[in-house]
Amino acid sequence: MHWHTTSRCSTLRELYKRKHASYRITNHKKIFFNATKDIVCFNCKRDLLEEYVLSAPNGKYRCLDCAIKTSLIDKIPDKITKAMN
Ligand SMILES: [Zn+2]
Repeated sequence: MHWHTTSRCSTLRELYKRKHASYRITNHKKIFFNATKDIVCFNCKRDLLEEYVLSAPNGKYRCLDCAIKTSLIDKIPDKITKAMN
């Protein structure tokens, strides 16, 4: 499953870059927009460049889908949802 195909519109990408919302869940858990780091989701191994990512204290990064599936977060915070749309 590849999300990062050449079909992604560059205008959309610029829009994403402007929306660098981040959200601290606890002292150790934080959702942020990954604009530059070459990281993959710990669970599904998805490429997380230009995606919202949950960082956990053990240094593992997860996509928000997996963060919810593994109960690290209940849902995507409204602030992030708004930034995505
Ligand atoms: Zn994932």
